Amino acid sequence: MKYYKIITYGCQMNEHESEKLSGILENLGYNLTGSDELADVIVFNTCCIRENAEQRAYGNIGALKRLKKANKNKIIAVGGCMPQQKDKAEILRDKFPFIDIIFGTHNLADFERLLKQRLEKGKKFIEISNDEYSIKECSFVKRSTYPSAYVNVMYGCNNFCSYCIVPYVRGRERSRNPEDILAEVKTLVESGYKEINLLGQNVDSYGKDLNPKVEFSTLLSRVAEIDGKFRIRFISNHPKDINENVAKTIKKYDKICNSIHFPVQSGSTKILGLMNRKYTREEYLEKIDMLRRIVPDIKITTDIMVGFPMELEDDFNDTLSLVEKVEFDGAFTFVYSPRSGTKAYSMDGHIDEKIKKERIVKLVDLQNSINRKIASKYLGKTLEILVDEFNLEQQIYIGRDEGGKVVHFNSDKNVVGEFVSIRITKASGISLYGEIV
Ligand code: SF4
Repeated sequence: MKYYKIITYGCQMNEHESEKLSGILENLGYNLTGSDELADVIVFNTCCIRENAEQRAYGNIGALKRLKKANKNKIIAVGGCMPQQKDKAEILRDKFPFIDIIFGTHNLADFERLLKQRLEKGKKFIEISNDEYSIKECSFVKRSTYPSAYVNVMYGCNNFCSYCIVPYVRGRERSRNPEDILAEVKTLVESGYKEINLLGQNVDSYGKDLNPKVEFSTLLSRVAEIDGKFRIRFISNHPKDINENVAKTIKKYDKICNSIHFPVQSGSTKILGLMNRKYTREEYLEKIDMLRRIVPDIKITTDIMVGFPMELEDDFNDTLSLVEKVEFDGAFTFVYSPRSGTKAYSMDGHIDEKIKKERIVKLVDLQNSINRKIASKYLGKTLEILVDEFNLEQQIYIGRDEGGKVVHFNSDKNVVGEFVSIRITKASGISLYGEIV
């Protein structure tokens, strides 16, 4: 038996790319293991959004030196966003000479060839393509998130937010052909998947590069018209690009979850300008009003960053007041951390770490109080839950409603992958507890 292990860092995009690497390796006869010792091939699928993710990756790669020394046939590969940056690829090559294959974000589909060449010729390979405009599809995907499945609708980003490295490592926006997306979704639904997560750095830009152009709302409608009972989610939206057609399409189709991830990043127009987000506080709030007018029960989650360069107390207060006004159904909150290679890195006015910490604590406290208030409104309600998993440790089933609320409950029979009706009996923080009805 041959074995492989994949270590994934970062976002859903990376998680899905690891599924593609798994597909390639399983098609070559490798079996998944969690053991570094047992694995014949170890792949690091790296992320570079935050410097500390890179430091962690260096540490984990370095820890394999001893194993590689003991077994020269073990293949160690490093791919993803880190090596796509030239300086990082050089560090990997020079500091970790035992790495066998280094490949970039645009070379994922080349991994099978690189591995075969390494095995047959014994040579080390570095392959970092700068082809930012093409799409190389992977023929094999080993899914790991049943009953949900990720489907890329597009790759890359054109937005160049000043704190973000993504456009530099993932290239320009390029949309997949709608027929390929629809065929993939249809196959997934026919094979039992109950939730389709459409992925793109900015799904609202979908189809602008196709000829003829296709609107994201049109793609959404076509996905929703596929037969079968399943849910549709999509991530991520950009406030400058979303339009009414997306909201109307959410409203029109039951299959499309009444929920949206709508990153605001800051409540201050000044900071949004420095972030190069291309919308103002007022424009963001207008888009929130538009979403709630067209889809009254829509659940809205967001990303918020504090401590961006030049963020004064007034700017931070603008963020707090926006959060109070919108009452998000959930928020991923971050402290700005400088990321070399981005515009914000060399800006003036970096904020003291102590102030950043004070601000994040205030923001988290505020969002927690909103979470508790929203969660308490669920008491006594009956929700349709798609069951994701059985948690062995807690001996409890866990699923989500269409708004993304996490619900815990007990069941005598295995209900993973099923839709069940749950009456909510307890609300604790962002978690809900209930019983099958
Ligand atoms: S939209 Fe902005 S934050 Fe999102 S990936 Fe593109 S550059 Fe990064």
